[in-house]
Amino acid sequence: MLDDYKNNKFYNYAKNLKKYFHAYIFEVDDIETSYPLILAFIKMIICPNHYTNNKSCLDCNICHLIDENYYEDLKVIETTDKIIKKEQITKLQQELSLKSSNNTNQVYVIKEADKMNLNAANSLLKFIEEPEENIYGILITTNKKSLLSTILSRCQIIELKVEKETNYNLEDINNSLSFLTLIHEEKENSIAYLKSRYLNIYATRDDILKSFQMLENLIDKEINRRNGIIDNNFSFYDIIEASLQEITLKELIFYLDKIIVMKNKLIENPYLNLNLFLDRLIIEISEVKI
Ligand SMILES: [Zn+2]
Repeated sequence: MLDDYKNNKFYNYAKNLKKYFHAYIFEVDDIETSYPLILAFIKMIICPNHYTNNKSCLDCNICHLIDENYYEDLKVIETTDKIIKKEQITKLQQELSLKSSNNTNQVYVIKEADKMNLNAANSLLKFIEEPEENIYGILITTNKKSLLSTILSRCQIIELKVEKETNYNLEDINNSLSFLTLIHEEKENSIAYLKSRYLNIYATRDDILKSFQMLENLIDKEINRRNGIIDNNFSFYDIIEASLQEITLKELIFYLDKIIVMKNKLIENPYLNLNLFLDRLIIEISEVKI
């Protein structure tokens, strides 16, 4: 089940969107339990009231039809078979193109998009590359890495997976922590080095976001530990403690605050220039005066 934090974050993100991208990938832990949230997003695209009263668009016939799975401009591909075939994608495209002269928005959904075989994926790719006005795609997967990189790079990726600490690995932890310790030691002098290093390890906005979410969580754990609150399921205390020992509790709290503010900027603004973002973040943290 999606936690409330992610849920609210996503609603805020969706509500503030000025325009919709033509194709989205939703990466989720579980497709069925995440689907109501994704459906709410789809309603925002299709509904003439933009589904602003997002709990229930009561007066709106279109939202009602969507709920009843009866709205013809929302096409959903789902299968219990092992693969999604090219024929299913081309049929979908034909149906959508037939109606694309209408002014209403059309949305297609591909559940378990990773089930597309290569032919299906390539045929979808052409469709995504030359998007028709008013047609929006939603691909849902539990593992975006199993999608073609050419598809990944052309879609806006929305991650609704709840990060599990058990997935943390030592290398990522050390990379995240050293980002903070280097700024702590070197202040603004660390900008050039950190940026080239960081952008080398984390190529996409998504990777960077993940790394900051991890850093946020690690600092949070250390602050709690120093205050005597230990999470027995967490096994990386030694590493964090050793790495952050030169930083006082007060400094950690300030740093955490800056990191959260900047991370939220990154979440809310998909167009943020990553280079400038890192500049700003390093400067913000460097300027912390205790
Ligand atoms: Zn509505």
